[in-house]
Amino acid sequence: MNIVIMGPPGAGKGTICEKLIKDYDYTLISAGDLLREEKASGSDLGKEIASIIDEGNLVPDGMITTIILSVLDDNEDNSFLVDGYPRTIRQGNSLDNMMDVSKVIWLNVSEETTIKRNLNRGKTSNRPDDANEEVIKERIKNYNETSAPLKDFYEDKIIEIDGEGTPDEVYELIKNKI
Ligand code: ADP
Repeated sequence: MNIVIMGPPGAGKGTICEKLIKDYDYTLISAGDLLREEKASGSDLGKEIASIIDEGNLVPDGMITTIILSVLDDNEDNSFLVDGYPRTIRQGNSLDNMMDVSKVIWLNVSEETTIKRNLNRGKTSNRPDDANEEVIKERIKNYNETSAPLKDFYEDKIIEIDGEGTPDEVYELIKNKI
């Protein structure tokens, strides 16, 4: 069973994924982590990625899809928990060609909360895209314009979760539904 986790930037997807992989046998695929790893490697691709993600923009669909596909190819028989992918309808179609998505956990969090959480994370995360309110707003705008439409794309696979509570509270809500 493969699960995708969705929600605005700062919704708490990463935190929930950490809890899920402790309790269940999933292989985590985090698009953001994979991009930051490539950035940290200092490769030419990493430099290109840095110039995009540090400004709060989305990398091209083909670039992230190639990265995701290579991870899937290395871990064929596992159950996956996918965080940060898809973020566009085109990526959603690509993922459908790569795996059977069983359920989509959708974390609903207000814009006010996401801005607060991102700024807070920015104090310790060393992520340039968390440190600056303008960049955070750009990421939220991208989410509203290109990622939110995936709610209709996944329709009956979606489990909607109120993500406003503490990590433990939100995790309880999720465990009761999967
Ligand atoms: P958040 O969910 O808080 O925005 P992520 O770690 O998931 O953080 O992503 C960080 C950044 O990486 C995004 O703002 C975007 O620039 C880039 N990114 C991540 N996933 C994708 C994707 N599927 N397609 C395009 N860009 C992506």
